[in-house]
Amino acid sequence: MQLHDLTWPDVEDYLQRSDGLMIPIGSTEQHGPSGVIGTDAMVAKAIARETGVRSDLLVGPLLSIGVAEHHMAFPGTLSLRPSTLIALLQDYLHSLAQHGFRQFFFINGHGGNIATLKAAFSEIQTGERERGGQRPLRCTLVNWYEVAEVVRLRKQYYGDQEGRHATPSEIAVIQYLRPDLIRKQPLPPPGPLQSEVQGAADFRAKYPDGRMGSWPDLATPAQGQVLFDAAVRGLAQQVPTFFSEGG
Ligand SMILES: [Zn+2]
Repeated sequence: MQLHDLTWPDVEDYLQRSDGLMIPIGSTEQHGPSGVIGTDAMVAKAIARETGVRSDLLVGPLLSIGVAEHHMAFPGTLSLRPSTLIALLQDYLHSLAQHGFRQFFFINGHGGNIATLKAAFSEIQTGERERGGQRPLRCTLVNWYEVAEVVRLRKQYYGDQEGRHATPSEIAVIQYLRPDLIRKQPLPPPGPLQSEVQGAADFRAKYPDGRMGSWPDLATPAQGQVLFDAAVRGLAQQVPTFFSEGG
C-alpha cells in the first residue's frame, strides 16, 4: 500500500489500525560504466513497495536524492548536503506526525545516507519533545543490502568482487526489476580498494570508472530476484516487529 495511491479518508482509516510508515530512501548517483544513476533509489523503492504489500503496511513517497558528495565528479550525480537532507526529513516526518504517524521505518539503499539519517532522527526526536509531543516519535533504518540473508547471498554469489560501490548485488536487483536497463558492456576485473576517499576529485582519481572494488559483470537477473525476495522477506518480518514494539 502506497500513500500516493490512497485518499485522505483511506489514510484516516489506516491510522485507526497503525501509526507506522515505511519510507524508502536512495540516491541519484553514478554506478560505474554499466550501472544506472537511479540504482539506489529504484531498488529501495521497489523493496519498500513489495514489503508494504506483504506486511499490509503503508509506504510513503520515495526520497530519491541523498548525500552523494563523493560521486560528484561523475556526471548525472545529484547530492544534498547533510543539512539539506536533515531539513527535508524534519518537514517530511513532522507533517506525518501532525496526522498521527509516530513510527517511521526507513528502507535505505545508499550507505552515504546513514550518518545523516541518524543525525536527522535525533534532530526530529528533539524537536518533537520540545514542542511537547505526548509520545516520542520512533525512527529506525535498515539498509536492504544488510538484511542477514542478503549478506549471506552477496558473499555466496560474489565473494570479494562484491566490492563497495556499483556492486554486482545491486546491479543484479536492477537487472531483475528493469531488464530494459541491462548493459552488456564488459568491464575488466576490479582494481584493489584504495585508502579513504577525501572528496569527489579524489574518488575519481582513485576509482576512475566509478566502481569501488566491484565486478558488476557477475550480476544476473535471476540472482537479482533471489536477492530482492530475501530483502523483502527479512524486512516483512522486521518492520511489523518494530511497529508493534512501539504500538
Ligand atoms: Zn548503490
